[in-house]
Amino acid sequence: MTDASCGPESVSAQRFPVVVVGAGPAGLTVGNILRAASVDCLVLETETRAFIERRPRAGVIEEQAMRGLEKRGLARNLLDRAELHTACEFRFGGERYRFPYGELTGSHHFVYPQPLLVTDLVREYADVRAGRIRFGVRDVRVHDADTGHPSVSYLCPDSGERRVVHCDFIAGCDGARGATRAALPPDRVRVARHDYGIGWLALLAEAPPSADCVLFGCHERGFAGQMPRSPQVTRYYLQCPPGDDPGNWPRERVWAELQERLGASGVPPLVEGRLIEKRVLDMHDQVVEPVTFGRLHLAGDAAHLIAPIAAKGMNLALHDAFLLGDALAARLTTGDDRGLADYAATSARRVWDYQEFSQWLSEVFHGTAAGDPFRAGTTLARLRRLFTSPAAAAAFAEQYLGTATRY
Ligand code: FAD
Repeated sequence: MTDASCGPESVSAQRFPVVVVGAGPAGLTVGNILRAASVDCLVLETETRAFIERRPRAGVIEEQAMRGLEKRGLARNLLDRAELHTACEFRFGGERYRFPYGELTGSHHFVYPQPLLVTDLVREYADVRAGRIRFGVRDVRVHDADTGHPSVSYLCPDSGERRVVHCDFIAGCDGARGATRAALPPDRVRVARHDYGIGWLALLAEAPPSADCVLFGCHERGFAGQMPRSPQVTRYYLQCPPGDDPGNWPRERVWAELQERLGASGVPPLVEGRLIEKRVLDMHDQVVEPVTFGRLHLAGDAAHLIAPIAAKGMNLALHDAFLLGDALAARLTTGDDRGLADYAATSARRVWDYQEFSQWLSEVFHGTAAGDPFRAGTTLARLRRLFTSPAAAAAFAEQYLGTATRY
C-alpha cells in the first residue's frame, strides 16, 4: 500500500517490526521477503514511485540472483521478458574473440533493465503483498540503533512535520549516499576504498545493440563497452579521465570513439542513435565493515559500492537482500537469530570476492591504455590466456557469472 502523503491514517501506524530505508532492488526485495512471511514493515523512500520506476542503471542479472528472486516469487516478469545471454565478446588488436561462458558454466546472464525489475518489485510489494511504503520522505534519521528500541524519523513531504517510526530492526538499503550508512559511528566501522583513477562516460543510446552480446573493447585509446538493454536501447561506456565533463563529449566524438575502440576486422560499424543519457562515473569501490550496528543492518550499495566494471552492483544488492530478508523473517517469526548474527560476515565474503574480480577485470579493460608498454604487454597476455588456457577461461567464467557455491 502506497502512502503518497503522511495523512491521518498513516499517523496511527507508527510502529513496525522492520523499517526498510530505500526502495531500490535491495530494499524492495527485503520488503517482499518480509511480507511473504507476514511480517509488517514500512519502506521509506526519498523519491517518487514514478521516478524509481524509470531510473536507468543496471541490466545484467546473474543466474543465481535470478534464481534467488524466483525462489521468493519475484521473477515472473523477468523470466518472461529477459534476454538470455550465453557469451560475451572481447575486441582487441583489431580482432574479435567470442567467450562462450554458457558452454563453460552451464549458466547464463539475464538482461533485464533495472527500472523494470524495480517496477516489478514495487508492484509486488505494495499492490500484491500489501506492504506499506512512503515516497518523497525527507531528512531520514536513524535513532538508538544500538539499543533494543530503535526508531527512524523523517520529514513528511506535505506538512514538513517530523514523524517517528518505532521498530525492532532497521534495514539500511538507501544506496551509497543514503542516511543509514552515516548512522554508523565512525569509530565502530572501517571504510575501505579503492580509486581506479579512471572515469567511464556512461551512455544510453536510442539504438539497437550492434551485437547479440556484451562487447568489451580493450583499446590503446581506452576501454569501450556495449551492454544490450532492449531491442531499442543500448548502454555504452567509454573510458575517459575521471571528473571529465560530459559536455566534452558531443555526439560525433562519442560515436567516433565507440566505432574506433569497438571496431574489429569483419565487423560492421555500430548502429548509431540519439544519446538519451550521458554522464561520467568515477570508478571506485568501497566496502563498509561491519554492516551491522545493533539493530541496524546495511545491504546493497549502502554497504558497499562496486564500480560497474564487472556489472556486479545490483547482483550484490540482491544477494544481500536475500540473506538479510530471510534472516529478519526467521528472527521475527521463529525467534531464530542465527541468520542475523552471521549476516555481516556472510555478506562480506561474497562482497570481497566480487571486488577482487572487479580489480582484476579493470586491468584487463584499462591496461592497454595506461601508456605503459609493460602493463600493455601483461594485459594482452591476460587477454590471450582467456582464449588459450581452459583453466583460465573456466576461472574467469565462474567469477563473471557468479556461479561459485561457496565464498
Ligand atoms: P539503490 O538502487 O541506489 O537504491 C537505494 C534507494 O534509496 C534509492 O531508491 C534512493 O532514492 C533511496 N534513498 C537514498 N537516500 C535515501 C534516504 N536518505 N532515505 C530514504 N531513501 C533513500 N549493477 C549490476 O549488477 N549490473 C550492471 O550492469 C550495472 N550497471 C550500472 C550502470 C550504472 C550507470 C550505474 C550507476 C550502476 C550500475 N550498476 C550495475 C549498479 C547498480 O545499479 C546498483 O548497485 C544497485 O542499484 C544497488 O541497489 P540498492 O538497492 O543497494 O541501491
